[in-house]
Amino acid sequence: MATVITAGKLFDGAGSMVEHPLVLVEDGRIAAVSTREASQTPVGARVMDFPDATLGPAFFDIHIHGAAGHDVMEATPEALEAMGKFLAAHGTGAFLAATVTAPLDATLRAVEGIAKLIAQPMDNSAARPVGIHLEGPFLSHAKRGVHPAEHLLAPSIETFDRLFDAAEGQVRLITLAPELPGALELARHATERGVRVSMGHSDATAAETRAAIAVGAVSSTHTFNAMRALDHQEPGILGMVLSDDRLFAELICDGVHSRPEIARLWWRAKGRERAILITDAMSATGMPDGEYRLGGFSVQVAKGRATHDGVLAGSVLTLDRALENFVAFTGAEVEDGMHLLTTNPSAMIGLGDGVGRVAAGYEANLVAVNADGRLIASIVRGQVVAGAAAG
Ligand SMILES: [Zn+2]
Repeated sequence: MATVITAGKLFDGAGSMVEHPLVLVEDGRIAAVSTREASQTPVGARVMDFPDATLGPAFFDIHIHGAAGHDVMEATPEALEAMGKFLAAHGTGAFLAATVTAPLDATLRAVEGIAKLIAQPMDNSAARPVGIHLEGPFLSHAKRGVHPAEHLLAPSIETFDRLFDAAEGQVRLITLAPELPGALELARHATERGVRVSMGHSDATAAETRAAIAVGAVSSTHTFNAMRALDHQEPGILGMVLSDDRLFAELICDGVHSRPEIARLWWRAKGRERAILITDAMSATGMPDGEYRLGGFSVQVAKGRATHDGVLAGSVLTLDRALENFVAFTGAEVEDGMHLLTTNPSAMIGLGDGVGRVAAGYEANLVAVNADGRLIASIVRGQVVAGAAAG
């Protein structure tokens, strides 16, 4: 049966806004995108109308470790499916499963398991892992955050290749500290293999950052967190990230990892084409306060803060909440926020195939949000998995 979705506006993920959109869905895929003026609703079609909402592509989270009591490093179908269902209910359609620094053997096993699950069909109501983000082990001891010191490694092409091969080529993004010996060679090599390089957990100077950009680094991992602080005489990695228009920059927009004023600064510096909202969420996301796992270590969660020995350890943020926070903190329009959750991460990762777009031929993974950025409905493969199905 055909389904027709109508709304006040549509952001298509490719930069266009459509007034009074009419999206025709057949068998879980978008058959056509038109307007109410130009198209009739087919006889017998089910109609979902969100008159006061903006439709957009389902969100794409390029940095998430876990949710709903599970960590991606469990690498089991149960873990990824539980996560995927929870994420779909919060508007996320696709994600990169982010590893955390662990013994190399454990990381090799995890990426091998995740790669198999990426290739398999998933439950129809779940967000899907579409690649792997290696967060570590090539991070700075000075800015490791909660990544275990004993498992950090010096950048090595050989080690990277072992991880890449174990992951059957599904590694799409790697976070590394550009100032470490061997980091530039690895950044160049990873880029040549089609993996995007994001700079993070880093104490790099401006010159060290510039050198990494010259060999392919394109983004900044949870900007401001686990990074040399901004100094007007040594701008450092942060000064480069905020001032170089080529670079994408992730932000955990929860008001905990950085304050609302910092979100405004980041938005003004990076703007509509380069800012990327992420969660960095861990297994406690969507769960009550208590003790949880992040990769191989324990994390205490209370009142929206996840910590290990008092240091922030991932977040309990969801992307729908990140959008609301972004709109509230910056005063930007909701379609700006949609850019940061769909178009920009897709453009940075280079996934052209069905992630972050509302267009004919793509899977019908959409959100409807109101002007405050609040999620009204999340639609996965043409079915409402959260929110009100009006009409
Ligand atoms: Zn991190």
